[in-house]
Amino acid sequence: AADEGFDLEDVEGAIEAAGHGPLPVVAVVGRPNVGKSTLVNRIIGRREAVVEDTPGVTRDRVTYEAEWSGRRFKVVDTGGWEQDVLGIDASVAAQAEYAIEAADAVVLVVDAKVGATDTDEAVVRLLRKAGKPVVLCANKVDGPSGEADAAYLWSLGLGEPYPVSALHGRGTGDLLDRLLEVLPEAPRETFAGTGIGGPRRVALIGRPNVGKSSLLNKMAGEERVVVDELAGTTRDPVDELIELGGKTWRFIDTAGIRKRVHLQQGADYYASLRTAAALEKAEVAIVLIDASQSISVQDQRIVTMAVEAGRALVIAYNKWDTLDEERRYYLEREIESDLAQLSWAPRVNISARTGRHVEKLVPAIETALAGWETRVPTGRLNAFLGELVSAHPHPVRGGKQPRILFGTQAGTKPPRFVLFASGFIEAGYRRFIERRLREEFGFEGTPIQISVRVRE
Ligand code: GDP
Ligand code: GDP
Repeated sequence: AADEGFDLEDVEGAIEAAGHGPLPVVAVVGRPNVGKSTLVNRIIGRREAVVEDTPGVTRDRVTYEAEWSGRRFKVVDTGGWEQDVLGIDASVAAQAEYAIEAADAVVLVVDAKVGATDTDEAVVRLLRKAGKPVVLCANKVDGPSGEADAAYLWSLGLGEPYPVSALHGRGTGDLLDRLLEVLPEAPRETFAGTGIGGPRRVALIGRPNVGKSSLLNKMAGEERVVVDELAGTTRDPVDELIELGGKTWRFIDTAGIRKRVHLQQGADYYASLRTAAALEKAEVAIVLIDASQSISVQDQRIVTMAVEAGRALVIAYNKWDTLDEERRYYLEREIESDLAQLSWAPRVNISARTGRHVEKLVPAIETALAGWETRVPTGRLNAFLGELVSAHPHPVRGGKQPRILFGTQAGTKPPRFVLFASGFIEAGYRRFIERRLREEFGFEGTPIQISVRVRE
């Protein structure tokens, strides 16, 4: 390794970062063109950027590793997110919502020359509701004369606006100092206790009316249902232990499913927080989709949440008893176009009403959990990578050909890989590698994460 320009410390550092101590996550959010991507580039300083692509259903999220004052953290660039059909306001709000779910702290970027807009204020409301630490970046303050513009942003009620020129670097040091003050040392806890030997933890999720409570009742049906008030905190939602296929499973936050609270306002928002909370505690998610209706943006978002949370995943198409031939035809087309990137997730067609194929959920969950825990030995991985890279080299860019030098699997649950490369590896090529990894090693039912460490 050393002759390729990496020393052992680099390798160990990268494995450590990807494998054990997950780093705290900072999301950079704001309206289009306020300078988010410019700021992210400024924060990471392009050299040696570790890039992680989380292929989403509707978009890809790009995460970079950064360091300031000796502390490492991750930065999520939301700058490249697609504007969707909902228009700017809705998509900026949706983007901020993702950030709320995924981040430990948020940098809200506002264009100080333009001032606070209604969209900015909508994002502020979301951020405030979530209670995550926020640092306000008043961007495009390229010189002292712009500082007055920045001061107007006190009106957003997020405390001191930090005047910054992401383009020239002015003020970014103070912004980062402040960010590190509010950023928690360790990221949010992922799972509460692994419960070795205990029942596997399952999140049953899906938008309202897809049949979650019907399925829960069906599964709990004849079986003994134990309502398990988790010891310790009173805040914890109620889990249920359900026996299926001769094993006991812990279904997370079934109280949230059974209660069926339908608030007039913000119901989606609370449903999405509940989904995020259940995912956080679960190992595997069953995403329920109502097959009798067109796959919606909300279905896609819920699937994306499960993938981004790094959980094993099973997709269950419910209400199969109501489908005629025509609907079945269109469903397959919708799956091909809207959920194409999830072809790795086991699929079961069920009816919570009649009980059709409900028993098939168990082998599907077991398959997904097995993929989630798969570990590829380093020797095998590198034999595979060596062959792959010589048969399909990365395209030449600017007269150079970035090469993958070697790789290692740094962790499982989900499988996480670190690849060491001689240059920037494009997203398309990273995706190609992911596809080939899946073909070679399985990983059915699990997202996989690939980060690339570049040494020029
Ligand atoms: P994003 O859509 O929020 O990611 O915005 P970008 O980072 O792509 O920036 C949008 C435009 O604003 C680009 O033309 C940048 O060069 C410009 N820009 C970004 N930061 C600054 C800044 O601090 N000062 C000035 N004058 N322009 C900036
Ligand atoms: P939840 O909001 O996801 O918990 O959904 P529910 O379990 O309350 O179901 C919503 C509606 O769909 C109810 O009227 C159910 O009776 C109905 N439903 C649920 N599963 C099925 C199914 O498999 N077939 C049919 N025909 N209806 C179903």
